Amino acid sequence: MKHIKVKDILNSTKSNYEVTVKGWVRTFRNNQFIALNDGSTIHNLQCVVDFENTPEVTLKRINTGTAVGLTGNLVESKGAGQKYEIQVSKLEILGDCDAEKFPMQPKKHSLEFLRENAHLRVRTNAFGAIMRVRSVLSFAVHSYFQEKGFFYVNTPIITGADAEGAGEMFQVTSLSLDNPPRNEEGNVDYKKDFFGKHTNLTVSGQLEGETFAMALGQIYTFGPTFRAENSNTSRHLAEFWMIEPEVAFNDLNDNMDLAEDFIKYVIKYTVDKCADDLKFLEGRLLDEEKQKPQAERSEMALLEKLNFVLENNFKRVSYTEAIDILKESTPNKKKKFQYLIEEWGADLQSEHERFLVEKHFKCPVILYDYPAKIKAFYMRLNDNTEPGRETVRAMDILFPAIGEIVGGSQREERYDVLVEKMKAIGIDEEELWWYLDTRRFGSAVHSGFGLGFERLVLFVTGMTNIRDVIPFPRTPMNAEF
Ligand code: ATP
Ligand code: MG
Ligand code: MG
Ligand code: MG
Repeated sequence: MKHIKVKDILNSTKSNYEVTVKGWVRTFRNNQFIALNDGSTIHNLQCVVDFENTPEVTLKRINTGTAVGLTGNLVESKGAGQKYEIQVSKLEILGDCDAEKFPMQPKKHSLEFLRENAHLRVRTNAFGAIMRVRSVLSFAVHSYFQEKGFFYVNTPIITGADAEGAGEMFQVTSLSLDNPPRNEEGNVDYKKDFFGKHTNLTVSGQLEGETFAMALGQIYTFGPTFRAENSNTSRHLAEFWMIEPEVAFNDLNDNMDLAEDFIKYVIKYTVDKCADDLKFLEGRLLDEEKQKPQAERSEMALLEKLNFVLENNFKRVSYTEAIDILKESTPNKKKKFQYLIEEWGADLQSEHERFLVEKHFKCPVILYDYPAKIKAFYMRLNDNTEPGRETVRAMDILFPAIGEIVGGSQREERYDVLVEKMKAIGIDEEELWWYLDTRRFGSAVHSGFGLGFERLVLFVTGMTNIRDVIPFPRTPMNAEF
């Protein structure tokens, strides 16, 4: 008999028919009740084993983690909390699990311990929920853009282009070749180690994406992105997934509208499709909050926080306005944000961003028109800015508890201005000849942004460490498997 998913059973409207389910034992109580999880839902299915007619040796093999196939009559459950249960008539052990050695016993494990067991942590309720939510969110990303007529473009993973990542790139090597490139002294030439050329793993698909937007009109990328982040923060991975739409004829305002609409759509989509998983994660967070002193507890529960984002406009604030607010502000009783008073033009630190989002505006914030000096070369210079105070049409979206979730801009469409800016920071025109072609042939206003997918998953799941929302985190500490 073909087996049926627990999720479908729980959604079914009839009972009293025979089903087969396959999954893993979560708990086995009183030699009689198996709580079975098959991964399709956060909910376990209660399966009642006829222990009097089941051989002792079989009962002994039923441990947390054992893979089983169970056939029996689906009946309405008398117990509280669940709709159906199975009266098992046939029990098959599909794979044993050594109770002594299996690390994922149903108890509270520390997140650090679970990170070291990334291959097994998905068997816990919390990680099952997180990974299902992640899957639905990624589908929502495609759903949004496809509905709006964007085309999905796969930009290269191995590339010579460096959008902005000086110092943050992983170089790609073909040194396993018998004849690696060598310099005159006979030493291996690391600058030319990809079959004689220099390449790195992509830090952003933007530059290549722009070339496609200038033909297909509106495109998006959604792919793996690599940055040699050498610090251990809870927001940075060495390998993460980035979503990068790029739209011809969109200016910075259109870009902000797109980003806000997109974020709200994917959150709404996930809230609707993942109600049970999110409710579970919310409960888990509430338990955690109870351990904290009252003053540090979050004001909103997870679903309330997600709905708040859906129902409120993101606050749009220019960099200069933000600096004025910060100058006037006292983050705690004693100190003002001192250094900003001295200097317009400094980049905001995460404490400033958090203050703006969490204390001042108390909602997601889109900061725009940053000083040109602290932003990338390809961003559109604002017209009519004061000399010495040039700004670019850049925007960052800042979220509570996460900080920067999006970085985007209107791009500099004017060939001459772009070349000037490249020269000023030492980028060789020859190197980006193909990128400059977009400005030579039918250049037009265009805009786009990059959104770190894991930061979005962090926000939606309420988790606080980025290592806990990607299946196998790559950081200086975790890259084993
Ligand atoms: P940050 O200031 O947090 O280091 P960034 O300004 O370097 O981010 P961008 O180059 O603007 O990042 O990239 C676009 C988006 O990609 C960011 O807004 C963020 O959501 C995400 N992102 C950037 N670096 C990482 C990383 N190392 N791990 C996960 N997500 C990242
Ligand atoms: Mg960075
Ligand atoms: Mg940044
Ligand atoms: Mg950025």
